[in-house]
Parts: sequence; C-alpha cells; structure tokens
Amino acid sequence: MSRKSYTPPGIDSCLYLSAKSLNVNPAVGAKNRVLTRSKTIHTPRLDPQAGREAVKEHCGIVGIYSLKGEPVAERIVKGLSALQHRGQESWGIAIPGEPIVKGLGLIGVGAAANARKILRLAGNRGIGHVRYSTRGRTTLENASPMDIKGEFSIAQNGTVANTEDLYPLVTGEFPILDDSNDTRLAGYRLLQHYRREHDWTRAFNRLARELSGSFCFMILTKEGEVLAARDEAGFRPLCLGYDEENKTHILASESCALTALHADFVRDVQPGELVRLNKDGVTVTTFADSPRHYHCPFEYTYFAHPSSTIEGHNVYETRRQLGRVLARKYRFSADVVIPVPDSARPAALGYSEESGIPMEEGLMKDRYRKKGNLRSFIEPTDESREEIVREIITIKPVVEGKRVIVVDDSIVRGTSSKNIIRALRDAGAKKVYMVVTFPPIRHPCYMGIDFPTREELLANRVDGEDTSISELNKKVANEIGVDGLGYNDMEGLTKGIGLRPDEMCFACVTGNYLGLKKDPVVRTREEMKA
Ligand code: SF4
Repeated sequence: MSRKSYTPPGIDSCLYLSAKSLNVNPAVGAKNRVLTRSKTIHTPRLDPQAGREAVKEHCGIVGIYSLKGEPVAERIVKGLSALQHRGQESWGIAIPGEPIVKGLGLIGVGAAANARKILRLAGNRGIGHVRYSTRGRTTLENASPMDIKGEFSIAQNGTVANTEDLYPLVTGEFPILDDSNDTRLAGYRLLQHYRREHDWTRAFNRLARELSGSFCFMILTKEGEVLAARDEAGFRPLCLGYDEENKTHILASESCALTALHADFVRDVQPGELVRLNKDGVTVTTFADSPRHYHCPFEYTYFAHPSSTIEGHNVYETRRQLGRVLARKYRFSADVVIPVPDSARPAALGYSEESGIPMEEGLMKDRYRKKGNLRSFIEPTDESREEIVREIITIKPVVEGKRVIVVDDSIVRGTSSKNIIRALRDAGAKKVYMVVTFPPIRHPCYMGIDFPTREELLANRVDGEDTSISELNKKVANEIGVDGLGYNDMEGLTKGIGLRPDEMCFACVTGNYLGLKKDPVVRTREEMKA
C-alpha cells in the first residue's frame, strides 16, 4: 500500500474557559494539581474529498473513526493485536448499537473464535481494549470496554488509586456498584458529571479533580463519538494517528498500533487533553493542567513496544542508549553480553557497542511451548509467571566456560533473575554478572503498573532502608547469585531516555508519589485483586 506523508494540521482557533466558572467541588485530597484553565481547540471540518486533510488537530486501548463510513471492527482487532504486549488477560470491542464483544485471553485467539460476530459489526467507529489487571479479578465481567448505563462504553489504561473516595460519591445513585473495578467506578462518576454538565470537557475536568492515579480513557458515546482523555500528569502514553488513504482517525496507547494499521503518527495526546473523533474530524480540548508531567520511565525500559515512539523518544533507541549508559557505569571483564529476552535486547546491544564485548543470544524463549510468547511480569499469578520463566532456555555453546554479562530491564521480585542465573551456571558459565536498566524498585506503583507489595520487592527485602546503589548492588547480587551486579540509577535512566528528570515519575524508586493527588492507600496484593 502506498503511503503519503501526513502533515500534522495547524490550530484553527482557541476558546478559553475560566476554571472558576465551572464551579467545581473541592478536589478530593488534591495537593499537587493546579488547574489553571481549560482550553478548547476547535479543529475545522476534515474534508474527505481533499487530498490533504485540514484537521487542525498496563492495558492497551484503541479508538477508530472512519470518515469514509467503512467498518472498523477488523482494524480494531489489528490495533489491539499490536498492543497485545500491554495486556493478555482479556480483550473487548465496542461498536455503536451492538453488544460489546469480549473474551478472556489473547485477542488473536479470541478474534478467530468470534470471527463471524466481529465481521458482522458494521459500525464505522469503535473502541477496543486489551487488559492486564491492576485492580479487579480476571473475569469476563471485568473485561473492557464496559457499558455505562447505555450512555457510553469505557476502557482505561491506568489505575485509579483512590477508589475509596469515588465509591461513596457514586453508590448513592448507583448502589449496585462495588469499588473493585476502578474503570467501572470512574465511568459511573463520569456519567454523573456529564449529566450535570452536558459537556465532556467540563465533565472530565470535574473527574480529573477527583481522581488520584493514572488514566487514559477511551470512550464511545451513544451518539457515536470516540473520545480519548489522558490524565494531566501523563503517566501512560496515548497518541493520535491518521490513515490518509482510508480517511480514518486512530487513537492508540502506542504508535506501534498506528504502524500496524498503516497510519501516520500525528502526535502524542498531551497530558490533560481530551480528543474527540466524529464526522467532522478531530477536536482537542484541555480539561486539566499540571505544573509538570510524570511520564513513566518503565514504559521505555520494559512495557512499551520497541518500535513505539513516546513523547518524541523511540523506545528501541532509548533501550539501546540505556545499555550504553550501563556499560560506562559498570565495566565488568567478560567474554559475552547476553540479553534477557525480549525487552532487554536493545540494551544488551547498546552495552556491547559501548564496551566492545560481543553480544550473543544466550537465552531464548521457547515460543513453541504453550506460554513461551507471553511475558512473565504481567502474568497474574505466581504459577503462571514461574511457568514462563522456566521456558526461557539457555544456549549452552554461547555461555559454557565464559564470563557472561546478562542485561535485564528490571528486578522486581528477583525470582526470574535467580532462575536465569541458575540456568546459566547449569549451562557452564564461568562467571555471571548482571546489569539492569531500571533503578532498584523499592515501592509499589499505584499508577498502572502491577508491581507487588513492598514486602515482595527484592530491593526492599534485602534492605528496607535507603542505601547507596553500590551497597545495594552487593546485597542483591548475593541474593540472586551473581558475581557482580550493576543497577542503573535515576541519573542514568534520565540520560538514556532523554526526558528531563522533572518530566518523569520515579515513585517506585523513591517512594515519593508526587504525581498523585493524595498519598496512596497501601493495599495488599489480595486487596488489589479482590
Ligand atoms: S511508580 Fe514506577 S512504574 Fe509506576 S508510573 Fe511511576 S515510574 Fe512508572
């Protein structure tokens, strides 16, 4: 298919709304967020006949609107498949006037099993979701998108950290709700605001003042508009694309979904923006503002697809750069550099390039076994995680009799690292060193990444108090059985990614939840999943 380059359109006009005029209730525990204004950017109608558009304007979400009136369900499946790395527990598709189609497991398998149903979906706009749960159990009922009283369907990437505040506000009107599913609760709260405001920007403004946590919401309204809202801290990524050939607008968690759909990347959705897709094209409004952003660095080191570009930084290149940073920091004498597949490959390449030590594939995921293609970190149970780790196999000739540097993206519980090191020693590695692109994780994440409780985090377990990285390197090395360990630090992380430190979140490293509006309620793993 021939692709024409797409030039992001300019801004046509601006309308400023006074935040005070909105008469918003006091924020629930808000202390860091300052909403200064709400800005509306109207984009002119997109002319489907024009060759050049005049549009001025730890889950995965997709929203698609075809201006040509073509069915979008298949494209939603394709976009979700490209975002499969963001969630493998369940999937769902909402198209106007049709029951939401949902399933447990992978979208590819689910779409094949539901092919007839999906191909019958004729709507020219819709939204989709792949899930890995940070709140609520893995059930079909908890799969998204979720219907909110027939008014809209909603899907979310992120986690609402203060459901206990929202719950009493919502259950007076909707008593059947419980607080275990943050997306459903936020959806009902949004409905309450929308019914009062009759305006989506103002409704999101009110909701954002009440929510502490992270969100990118994708919504399909009963009128058939597709809406996407990104929280003002910008924890999770969200971008806008356009397929010029098919006159189709696409919103997606990551740009890899745009690539899969042969669409051009238009831009990141900015923190605090609401994007609306309808027959007139794209409209962008600002519903909330923040003095600084809190982009999640874990997206770059582990979570996002290497082909994606987030906030102007390509994920593959940032990982490679992080490897170089580590090679300058930790000069282990070794014969070979090997990555822990798959996310650490670019970092291992960077380490090898900088150190001059050759890189080889010494560990492989056995993709032909049942779970070989899944990712251990986001598997919901310890058993399923262990199963995946066991299916990483060593290539003996690469490591036998050699001094090996293993490059990994993170150490969470340490279980995977321990097993990998043991397997390398079993395969005859003479010395095993490990370098890690993400700094020591000592605190849980309440903004959409399912890190375990503090007690389960290895860096915290071996030394609950803050200590220097070099001390911690020794303690963790001892724990996982390596001859030397090199954690990255926040400075190295910042250097590798290329964002400024005041644009990123480091809460899981420092324990300072600056991007939240209130201190998080510490929950056990069981409570989070209840
Ligand atoms: S706490 Fe850690 S994982 Fe969570 S958003 Fe912040 S940097 Fe990312």
